[in-house]
Amino acid sequence: MSRAWLIGAGPGDVELLTLKAARTLALADVVLVDDLVNPEVLQFARADAQIVYVGKRGGQSSTPQHEIVATMLDHLRAGRSVARLKGGDPFVFGRGGEEQQALQAAGVHVEIISGITAGIAAPAAIGIPVTHRDHAQGVVFVTGHGAGEHEADWRALAATHMTLVIYMGMRRLGDIVDALLDADMPPDTPCAAIESATRPEQRHVAATLHELVRRVTDAGLGSPSIVVIGGVASLATSDASSPQPAP
Ligand code: SAH
Repeated sequence: MSRAWLIGAGPGDVELLTLKAARTLALADVVLVDDLVNPEVLQFARADAQIVYVGKRGGQSSTPQHEIVATMLDHLRAGRSVARLKGGDPFVFGRGGEEQQALQAAGVHVEIISGITAGIAAPAAIGIPVTHRDHAQGVVFVTGHGAGEHEADWRALAATHMTLVIYMGMRRLGDIVDALLDADMPPDTPCAAIESATRPEQRHVAATLHELVRRVTDAGLGSPSIVVIGGVASLATSDASSPQPAP
């Protein structure tokens, strides 16, 4: 009987892959890989495994969700076991839930292998704990991607006084910061943005809410980045962005 797995590949650093993910990858006949996954992770796949790249980055062309599921089902029905590798954790903003539903609807049981999500690993990479007794009693993971009816209620989130960890927030960072300032979040609230966390090219800025957009723009920070907003961001180990030498 062929098996299906949804596997979290972690945030980037290959050593942040779980032992279970590495062991499971070695069982798969076919591996479907998202574009945020560090290709080094594929060292754990079998040499004869078929590797299929299915990018899925906001705003860029990518394999449609239904095609990814259809590809998985084709392989499964042909008796091949399929590992679906996603960045971070497969159930945090990775559409893993949707893929599980689609596979279940087709009668396939899919095993979930959790990964370390960027929303925890990226802040940690610069010394920021997402909770801390002195700063935040909780943490909210939220997407900055939504607009219109999918827009988060930034006023309600500001009122929680919890750490806000924003995924996919760079494109709309200006709007998000404006919404939080409108909601009376103090302009001197500590913030950080971390790009390509846990990878060699990692860089970040730490700034107040008031200065965040300017500092991010000056540093040229883009995707993939995690934005952290709240008192915990004052624990960032350095406030300097670290530009990389040109390749
Ligand atoms: N399932 C993933 C998230 C997928 S959504 C996870 O659990 O981490 C994609 C977003 O994740 C990116 O836009 C970015 O906000 C964040 N992200 C993923 N990897 C990252 C990294 N190495 N550094 C910073 N942000 C990252």
